Amino acid sequence: MSYKCSRCKRDVTLDEYGGVRCPYCGHRVLLKERSPDVKEIDVK
Ligand SMILES: [Zn+2]
Repeated sequence: MSYKCSRCKRDVTLDEYGGVRCPYCGHRVLLKERSPDVKEIDVK
């Protein structure tokens, strides 16, 4: 499953750690990326 951190907006892939937390900033609110209508492409 693919998620996006609601704080730092980075893509987060959850493994089987048993915890829901952004590995980049430690934030615990992740947004599910399920909507096919929303496509954000980072060009950096
Ligand atoms: Zn984050």
